[in-house]
Amino acid sequence: MNIHSHRIPRFVAAAATTVMLVLSAACGTSSNGEDEKKSEAVTGPITVVASVNQWGSLAEQIGGDDVQVTSILSSTGVDAHDFEPKTSDLAKLQKAQVVVSNGAGYDSWATKTLGRNAIGVSAAQTVGAMEGDNPHLWFSKDARNGMATELTEAFSKLLPAKKKAFQSRLRAWKTAEGKVEQAMDEFTKDHDGATYAATEPVVYYLMADMGFDDVTPKGYASSAAAEGEPAPADLQKFQSLIEAKDIDVLVNNTQEASDASNMLTGTAHRSDVPVFDVSEQLPDKYDSLTDWIAALVEELDAAMDKEDETDGDTTDDSANDNADGDGASSDNATSDDAQSGNTTSDDAATSSN
Ligand SMILES: [Zn+2]
Repeated sequence: MNIHSHRIPRFVAAAATTVMLVLSAACGTSSNGEDEKKSEAVTGPITVVASVNQWGSLAEQIGGDDVQVTSILSSTGVDAHDFEPKTSDLAKLQKAQVVVSNGAGYDSWATKTLGRNAIGVSAAQTVGAMEGDNPHLWFSKDARNGMATELTEAFSKLLPAKKKAFQSRLRAWKTAEGKVEQAMDEFTKDHDGATYAATEPVVYYLMADMGFDDVTPKGYASSAAAEGEPAPADLQKFQSLIEAKDIDVLVNNTQEASDASNMLTGTAHRSDVPVFDVSEQLPDKYDSLTDWIAALVEELDAAMDKEDETDGDTTDDSANDNADGDGASSDNATSDDAQSGNTTSDDAATSSN
């Protein structure tokens, strides 16, 4: 008899447990991440965490109101290469549905703690860049295009109901990016054989996309790429290059200032060689990555036109005016036009919960 009285409560208890499990699953209170991800994905917005704000900005351009983007590294005042995330940063990354990273060793901290169900989108992966390659991939048109497509696919997978919206934002982005690339192509045509040297190879891809030749002294370049101190002889070679005006532009990474870079920019200012200041992270004053790249292209164009004027001081003013007139058509592809295709709103993307 006792056997039955024991067995019945046990059965009831087991049944009750089963019912509770079913109920909790139905209510979505299960600790199973898969269920939570699915229920969130239906309603959106998608939680996106980007290691750096350059790629975070692109995620906002593609995701619009359907994503909520947090960028861990947004400051142009810190050394991006030596950045170490806080515990709270890592917690954000772990909760993300989509983790957007640069890769190629630039932000390895971002993908170390990827959440179990997170989708990772990496710029390095889209272009096959490896650790040891130049990691400043947001300056590469191939990487930007690859990332825009990858982000569209990742967002569409998580929020299939909004697939059309993502694709239409991708088209708008491609139109804006296309205008910037057109301005670059026009620059290449107008400035055949343009040369530069760099204190740090930050805009290597942008300069290559625009047709510039990198003539940074090799010894200096390899120590800069390895974040080491340049040898005095290499620094001297660089100084002479600037003093002889054998470069059209000196590229200066404002986020990686050093005694050497300060010395080189000082020499450039004294020698009337244009200094092209650029940071690693997207500066506050630009609404988007596309905006920023467009502005940089314009700035380089203006610096080169100024160079042409100083180089041509034996010619009269009217000749210079004509030279400017020839380049007027390229001015049509300005960043204002390029940005009109940007349908996303940064405010909307960040303020939604
Ligand atoms: Zn760098």
